[in-house]
Amino acid sequence: MIVGILKEIKVLERRVCMTPAGVVAMVQNGHEVVVEKDAGAGSGFEDALYVEAGATILDTPAEVYAKADMVMHVKEPQPSEYDMIREGQIVFTYLHLAADEPQTMGLMKSKSICIAYETVEKADGSLPLLLPMSEVAGRMATQEGAKYLEMPMGGRGVLLGGVTGVEPATVVVIGGGVVGVNAAKMACGLGAKVYILDTNLDRLRYLDDIMPANCYPVMSNPSVLRELVLQADVVIGAVLIAGAKAPKLLTKDMLKDMKDGSVIVDVAIDQGGCFETSKATTHEDPTFVVDGVTHYCVANMPGAVSRTSTMALTNATLPYALEIANKGWKKAVQENEALKKGVNVVDGKITFKGVSDAWNLDY
Ligand code: NAD
Repeated sequence: MIVGILKEIKVLERRVCMTPAGVVAMVQNGHEVVVEKDAGAGSGFEDALYVEAGATILDTPAEVYAKADMVMHVKEPQPSEYDMIREGQIVFTYLHLAADEPQTMGLMKSKSICIAYETVEKADGSLPLLLPMSEVAGRMATQEGAKYLEMPMGGRGVLLGGVTGVEPATVVVIGGGVVGVNAAKMACGLGAKVYILDTNLDRLRYLDDIMPANCYPVMSNPSVLRELVLQADVVIGAVLIAGAKAPKLLTKDMLKDMKDGSVIVDVAIDQGGCFETSKATTHEDPTFVVDGVTHYCVANMPGAVSRTSTMALTNATLPYALEIANKGWKKAVQENEALKKGVNVVDGKITFKGVSDAWNLDY
């Protein structure tokens, strides 16, 4: 199969969907890889590395779409690309079609086979191609919290881990899922006193078993939350209610009583945010202050660490891409239930219920 690696075109998206190491694996499996010029530059992978790995560099996306049997991206195809997609071509990338009607129509019209990273789902309900980005965002959340606690960044001048004879900072993580655990691990490793809140008792039991001694798993409810955020130097929002907007857990009223110069990092901002005062920010202007509390609410946090994010994402996507290339998409989805759930559009028809429901289309 000929596999096409496209350059990202969304503003400030610097990830790439396959590293040179991925190209080597494709070539070893007997496939040909074409890479759009400068596709990996934003993640530190120059064209020469792809050539060394066995790929051919093409100048334009049109050439990649014209040549490849399967095209890969990180973000969804943009309107400028819809007409380049060929009938029967496999498109493997994040799509988020339930939130994007024009793209849904564009992909149906193309009569291609569209497999969405975000709906690939394992038997235990986990989403293997979303998980690496939650890991990145969780770990980064603590790093951002620590940074904005520094006095020159507008913070209260507190070192997360304290030092000998000086108390560490208190970090409150709301939500003990993938983002929350990764945030808490980093904060614990730096020596902070960490509370991790969740509403799922089984999850709290698990956290109690695996987290270090400076981490306190606590049942989440409004009164516990109020009590803890008053002590907090950093609060990290990491809740998710599948398919719904995030609940507003930290209210304006609670915020007023928080310490001046403390920091809140709302990782759940991509689902609307779990703090009442949150609004989405960007990497160019990541923070704003309300009632003396710095808010960091960047909706695409992994974009800031594009090299790490690229490698984390491609570690997860490559086995699926190889399976599709080796077997062809039909056999691959017949033999892999997780991948089957990723199929959103086939030959002009919607094959994923969430998308057909969103736009009232036949399923
Ligand atoms: P997850 O499903 O693994 O974990 C969510 C956790 O929240 C679950 O353990 C759940 O029990 C808990 N929860 C639900 N309601 C709660 C409540 N009222 N109080 C306390 N806990 C509650 O999800 P995840 O992968 O950790 O993702 C968390 C959020 O981060 C999602 O909104 C996701 O979209 C977002 N995210 C954002 C970025 C970014 O760049 N901003 C990147 C990755 C993920």
